[in-house]
Amino acid sequence: MTTKNNNWDYAASVESTAHIKLNKKYALYIDGKWVEPSSKKYFTTHNPHNEERIAEIADANDHDVDLAVKAADRAYKEVWSKISASERGKYIFRIARLMQEHARELAVIESLDSGKPIRESRDIDIPLACNHFFYYAGWADKLEYAFPNQKKEALGVAGQIIPWNFPLLMAAWKIAPALATGNTVVLKPAETTSLTALKLAEIIHASGLPPGVVNIVTGYGHTGAAIVSHPKVAKIAFTGSTAVGKLIQRSIAGTTKKATLELGGKSANIIFDDAPIDQAVEGIINGIFFNQGHVCCAGSRLFVQENVAEKVIRKLKHRMQSLQIGNPLDKNTDIGAINSAEQLSIINKYIKIGIKEGSEFFQSKCVLPKKGYYCAPTLFINVAQSSVLTQEEIFGPVLSIQTFRTVDEVIQKANNSPYGLAAGVWTDKGSKIFNLTSKLKAGVVWANTYNKFDPSSPFGGYKESGYGREGGLHGLAAYLK
Ligand code: ADP
Repeated sequence: MTTKNNNWDYAASVESTAHIKLNKKYALYIDGKWVEPSSKKYFTTHNPHNEERIAEIADANDHDVDLAVKAADRAYKEVWSKISASERGKYIFRIARLMQEHARELAVIESLDSGKPIRESRDIDIPLACNHFFYYAGWADKLEYAFPNQKKEALGVAGQIIPWNFPLLMAAWKIAPALATGNTVVLKPAETTSLTALKLAEIIHASGLPPGVVNIVTGYGHTGAAIVSHPKVAKIAFTGSTAVGKLIQRSIAGTTKKATLELGGKSANIIFDDAPIDQAVEGIINGIFFNQGHVCCAGSRLFVQENVAEKVIRKLKHRMQSLQIGNPLDKNTDIGAINSAEQLSIINKYIKIGIKEGSEFFQSKCVLPKKGYYCAPTLFINVAQSSVLTQEEIFGPVLSIQTFRTVDEVIQKANNSPYGLAAGVWTDKGSKIFNLTSKLKAGVVWANTYNKFDPSSPFGGYKESGYGREGGLHGLAAYLK
């Protein structure tokens, strides 16, 4: 079989699934044991590439969440808060090493369940997830140096709710700092991508972590809501949509619960005329098309300086034609499957709106697989600032392009968004970069690169992109009082 694009055919190079171990059915991981959901209800997780069923996943209700939170509370009071910080660190190191040993299996399962290309899960998500555990393991017994002259204490039980775009990585972002700071955890993965979190539960179990320190409960929004409203949960760490973030804020208002919310984004990628254009084009592609645009900090609004706009757009269209779209497990694949039928229909709805609005429309002429949830990389050119395409998060491979003339103009346009998660600036001039990094209302500003992550660097947004920071020392502080 070959995958096709306009320029050439590649022989398929599909990663083997022979080495992965998946159960047909997954129960809830509570108090160090696999527990049947009290309702006996399970739901199916599908492979978005071929729509085939992969496994049945337990649907946790309020009672199950209550068991998990009580287990975490007991583990916090009786075990985790009593052992030394260096012991805590050893457990976290052990989890990191076991994850590395299972890296290949985790990468394949991630791509099967989420639709993201194996190249990304293998080279980015899984190594970064391991690195988060390594990084925070190192901090566990050094908190007094991280926060000198302050007496910091753990919060207790952290309720953590994560989305489907970086399933294992988000679990690592949440669990590693919580454990390092002495908290215990109840984590809920997204309903369409529970598998790597459940594999992580197996790894955590194999590491010998005391029962109840990490509990993984699966389910839909109602399971998340039960975690948020549980009185014994001291902190909520949520990554997901702004709409659900607002519901969570409302639900915890008036309580003593702490929260970090990492929500939506509509990030600006800004190309100046003195930028290295070919590199910038790669940065645009990386910013919005890799991972199918399923990145909360995706560079989904492109601003190009007017005098190079024609050249940038021509090169961008040319590069888009060479992107390989198809089987996420194929090592040639650049763009995998959209995570779910629901998400694909949301993306298609926005594409229809864009076409109706009348801005110039371009899609790469690739052959999409007949089965599965696929979307061709899409451009809308000369989009109005007021357009839905520039204002709303689409969470798909859809890029809206605007031009600008001056620095002040682009700062104003880029900041004209309800969101403020990230931005990219492409220019040869350091002074321009420093000017923009201080004026753009975005939590992260990348210069001459895009979507670069490191466990030591904090991440989080302004405005409706949420509050609080994850990663680095900031990520530790969010789990301490
Ligand atoms: P997305 O649009 O990225 O799917 P959501 O905010 O809908 O984002 O989902 C992110 C996570 O939040 C998922 O794990 C989902 O199950 C969970 N979730 C959805 N609704 C709620 C809710 N009302 N309370 C808590 N968690 C929720």
